[in-house]
Amino acid sequence: MTGQHRIVVLGAGYAGLAAARRLAGAARDAQITVVDARATFVERVRLHQQAAGQRIPAWDLREMLERKRIRFVCARATEIDTVGRRVVLDAAPALDYDILVYALGSLADPERVPGVAEHAYTVATPEDTRRLTLSRGPVAVVGAGATGIELAAELGESRPDLPVVLLGSEEPGAWLSPRARAYIRRTLERLGVEIRSDAKVIEVTSDGVRLADGSLVAAAATVWTTGFRVPDLAMRSGLAVDAAGRVRTDATLRSVSHPEIYAAGDAAVIAGPGDRELRMACATALPTGKYAADAALARIRGVEPRPLRFRYVVQCLSLGRRDGLIQVLRGDDSPRRTVLTGRAAASVKEWIVRGAARAARP
Ligand SMILES: Cc1cc2nc3c(=O)[nH]c(=O)nc-3n(C[C@H](O)[C@H](O)[C@H](O)COP(=O)(O)OP(=O)(O)OC[C@H]3O[C@@H](n4cnc5c(N)ncnc54)[C@H](O)[C@@H]3O)c2cc1C
Repeated sequence: MTGQHRIVVLGAGYAGLAAARRLAGAARDAQITVVDARATFVERVRLHQQAAGQRIPAWDLREMLERKRIRFVCARATEIDTVGRRVVLDAAPALDYDILVYALGSLADPERVPGVAEHAYTVATPEDTRRLTLSRGPVAVVGAGATGIELAAELGESRPDLPVVLLGSEEPGAWLSPRARAYIRRTLERLGVEIRSDAKVIEVTSDGVRLADGSLVAAAATVWTTGFRVPDLAMRSGLAVDAAGRVRTDATLRSVSHPEIYAAGDAAVIAGPGDRELRMACATALPTGKYAADAALARIRGVEPRPLRFRYVVQCLSLGRRDGLIQVLRGDDSPRRTVLTGRAAASVKEWIVRGAARAARP
């Protein structure tokens, strides 16, 4: 039924791989090709661990995909010719498609504040994180969101020799329940992390950061963990996108401008419960990648897919390797009172991270 359909998946992160895995299982006679600029799948949700000097797992994409009869092309997509329905690549011949799944994820956004691009490290991609060398003195972690909290805790635990300061304009975990926020603060303090809330960073320099109140925080290394952007490919190729360049989708994750294109994960605008947009997360990327594949296959078979039904359940933060926090959520991502903490939470988080990698790997 799906014979000769050429399905190209752009991006082999959590969303793209979840889509490819689903497609390979359900559309055995379609030609499925996955494109990624990297040759390996690195567990992005562990990059703060890599930044703190730990080795993290990586899988060879070609080997992993071709075992499931999915073609892999290691190249950067440079243009989508939506009229000719072909993807132009930098290091391989262009690929024709009948269906395209757009899952190019997100990147650090170093342009928001002066000096970030020149002087700060980021942990948004494996390449960024590999550059990180933290052996020279105090570290300033900018951003008290999930990535900043996880990184500061990891550094506090594995590099007790380095003074670490976590800077944010709000308290760490401000979006979580009061119990969760209190636990994060206690744990970071136990790990020796200095917390500075109300610290809006307006400039990064070679020897630290400048705050909005004019004061300077000295640091041998500054790690910028706040603000992500998305690749501009969709915008450059004429797809309907939001101001950030994310692909606008309908309730079935189909591009609102190009019905043969589906989008999932960080690179898509996806409406969630209560019309709140789904947040950039692995917890979003895996189910939306899978759903995008199902929706595309349903239409190939002449069936109208049911709209995406998405509910958050928990948000998991690691606080070093031996501590963690699981925040129970309402479906719309708002926090309930219930939290799990300590070693049990660290084990649950580790179990979820391993499960996410298993769910992505075809
Ligand atoms: C340190 C850190 C910790 C995190 N922890 C958590 C967590 O605990 N829980 C959670 O839910 N989320 C977490 N996240 C967020 C999560 O990693 C992302 O939301 C998730 O990876 C998004 O998946 P994706 O498939 O949309 O994109 P990505 O995982 O970003 O994958 C996109 C892929 O597209 C490829 N690509 C991009 N542009 C091109 C191009 N032009 N041509 C070819 N290939 C291209 C990239 O190489 C990449 O492999 C964390 C993120 C970071 C940085």
